[in-house]
Amino acid sequence: MADPGSHPPAVVQLEKLTFSFGQEPVLRDISLTVTEREFVVIVGKSGSGKSTLLRIIDGLLTGEGEARVQGRVRMVFQEDRLFPWYRVRQNVAVAVTRDATPAGEAAVAGSASARLSDTEKAMRLLEELGMRELAHRYPHQLSGGERQRVAIARAFVARPQIVLMDEPFGALDVLTREQMQTWLLDFWQRNTAAVVFVTHDVEEALILGDRILVIVDGRLRPVLNVNFPRPRPQRLRYAPEFLEAKQRVREQLAD
Ligand code: ADP
Ligand code: MG
Repeated sequence: MADPGSHPPAVVQLEKLTFSFGQEPVLRDISLTVTEREFVVIVGKSGSGKSTLLRIIDGLLTGEGEARVQGRVRMVFQEDRLFPWYRVRQNVAVAVTRDATPAGEAAVAGSASARLSDTEKAMRLLEELGMRELAHRYPHQLSGGERQRVAIARAFVARPQIVLMDEPFGALDVLTREQMQTWLLDFWQRNTAAVVFVTHDVEEALILGDRILVIVDGRLRPVLNVNFPRPRPQRLRYAPEFLEAKQRVREQLAD
């Protein structure tokens, strides 16, 4: 099944994809390949079509052209979308759906993970994330950053192959946003999911991504591979090579 070549398998493949709500296309002739475990960031200003693109990958919208996705997809939004009447642990547990069991795992009768209840899976993940003390709280008892961490835990608990993130830190203050970026990278590196993260924040894109693309006038353009080693410390934001990369992306965003 796997390609014997050295290329990691693709989990998302868009080919010549065009999408319109009305007359004018929002997305034009878009091609994008995301490979396993990759962290791809797409930058565009408000209204450029970022959410639309994620909804196409998620299968909620269909355009002209091809969109192929391999594996389970989960989405994280700017607003947390937690159930206010559930505690954190239940909010995470309800996201462990039946389709979350990988085909191979079901066959291993009595394997440890197969025996875990959804709540136990949720608790394990919350513990791994250092959020055990939040498990019994309700969403209204959490800060904005904590709520987004729960939303992210909820996306990852089903062990998806692809996590789509739609400006998940957009509503947070700058300091919290920077902490969340570091937290997300640390968590992502211990996981196996590819991430497609959209943002209007160029600095966020450079801190997070392996690769940055921009959407301008409905077209998706690759801009750069981000070669800064991980983990990426906060001081990287002030390094000359970081500022130079930031300017390069900014230039691509200008109309
Ligand atoms: P972004 O997420 O980059 O801010 P969107 O993908 O939400 O941009 O929107 C792209 C364009 O499509 C915008 O011009 C927006 O007004 C339009 N649009 C988004 N959703 C709809 C919809 N359901 N019906 C009609 N137009 C829409
Ligand atoms: Mg959007």
